[in-house]
Amino acid sequence: MAQPVDVRRRAFLKGVLAAPILASCGREEEPPQPPGQWRNWSGAQRCTPKGGLQMPANLDELASTVKAAKGPVRVTGAGHSFSAVVPTDDTLLSIDMLSGIVSHDPAQLTATVWAGTRLFLLGEPLAKLGQGVTVQPDIDLQSMGGLLSTGSHGAGSQHRCLPNYLTDITFVTADGSVRKVSRNVEPDVFKAAQVSLGSLGVIAQVTLQNRSAYALDERTGVMPLNDALEQFAGWQKQDRHTEFFAFPRGETAFTKRMKEVPLNTPRNTDGPSVEEDELGYASEVGMRAPFTIPLIQSVAGWFVPNTTRIGASYHIFPTTRHTLFNEMEYAVPAEKGPACFREVAAKIRDDGLPVFFPLEYRHVGADDLWLSPHHGRESVTISVHQYHKQDHVALFKAVEPIFWKYGGRPHWGKWHSLTAKELAGKYDHWQDFLRVRQELDPGGKFLNPHLHQLFGV
Ligand SMILES: Cc1cc2nc3c(=O)[nH]c(=O)nc-3n(C[C@H](O)[C@H](O)[C@H](O)COP(=O)(O)OP(=O)(O)OC[C@H]3O[C@@H](n4cnc5c(N)ncnc54)[C@H](O)[C@@H]3O)c2cc1C
Repeated sequence: MAQPVDVRRRAFLKGVLAAPILASCGREEEPPQPPGQWRNWSGAQRCTPKGGLQMPANLDELASTVKAAKGPVRVTGAGHSFSAVVPTDDTLLSIDMLSGIVSHDPAQLTATVWAGTRLFLLGEPLAKLGQGVTVQPDIDLQSMGGLLSTGSHGAGSQHRCLPNYLTDITFVTADGSVRKVSRNVEPDVFKAAQVSLGSLGVIAQVTLQNRSAYALDERTGVMPLNDALEQFAGWQKQDRHTEFFAFPRGETAFTKRMKEVPLNTPRNTDGPSVEEDELGYASEVGMRAPFTIPLIQSVAGWFVPNTTRIGASYHIFPTTRHTLFNEMEYAVPAEKGPACFREVAAKIRDDGLPVFFPLEYRHVGADDLWLSPHHGRESVTISVHQYHKQDHVALFKAVEPIFWKYGGRPHWGKWHSLTAKELAGKYDHWQDFLRVRQELDPGGKFLNPHLHQLFGV
């Protein structure tokens, strides 16, 4: 049977890309992970906690573990942050055993869940209750505690970052006591706790403000980059979610647009993933033969098919990311997004910075959470990725000042070099946050070296 043209084109591209990889010698193997070592998804963050990873099995055990620990105490969710928010060689906790839906309210469309619950475990059970999570990021492996603590977000200005969709938070403080806060109960602590990098305590449960279960129609396509940059703000009103990827050395944008469709729309989720296998091959080639990068990036648009996927929201939101990378992301005021993006791409191109991965461009709605990067303004988020085997720090340091020039605020879970000195001026409620943090954790039990730097304490 004849192969569809996209499959043949992609097989050809893989062949072209694979040849130099196979021809190159001296492939380095990843050394085995030492026993007791924790590492994040990309492998750039590591630590060896005393006594290994502690996994309390219920709320009482969690409270007594926190109380007994001298500190620092850190929690790991799925380890999908790129910044050093998790590592400690003292007490490292995983609350993976505190997982699942605790209760739900069909009238209010809320669900209380354990904070150790991975996002992908929520889709079907919530759908059976007639609920859907309002917005999701582009993968669903993270834990609820981790997603909320770093202010993770999806795509589209109609939606704010995930911690906005909480009605209450239950967490364990430094002395082992359990505290439940909401908009009405200790509102200041609630505002601080919604994005808090695990620096106020260990979140045990949260109540999610969901919506009715829903379905999405996702279309991916290719268009000239300049057109995408000009039209993107307008799409925010038409689409439920919109984003694009673009190579710094190409003139093409790879767009992804999602609309809501009736739940009974026939399902079609078999479309190929646009980003994955080829990206891994191309990154290897680009790393070994950087001179090939401009050519590959300028023709990449030929090989990326248009796709359509339709299905339940929790099937359509997540993509597969098995090519490892490190990432820096800044949120700049939405109206400055196109200019900032052009300058970042020009810097990478003009300085010949060695990177194959595309840049990512998304809108996020404004909110009023104290440490949200989107506080008080609609944002465009621009992400710079680096293949995990290449030097990400040199690349990110070269590009980062451009984001500062445009008033950017960093994603807390992604690489950045800012400390309290620069951060304080970026957040209206910085001092309020520090006050609440000091009240809840006067001894600094929840601070590792990275958090000491961030908060200047
Ligand atoms: C492939 C990939 C794709 C990504 N896509 C997106 C995206 O689309 N949008 C986006 O915004 N981000 C994205 N991210 C970033 C990611 O969503 C965040 O870094 C998120 O915090 C990771 O969740 P986690 O469960 O892995 O948390 P971890 O990285 O393990 O921890 C993050 C922070 O949360 C704290 N924490 C975790 N659990 C708790 C708890 N129970 N109580 C208190 N503190 C806690 C940790 O101590 C740490 O400070 C992506 C990351 C990767 C690797």
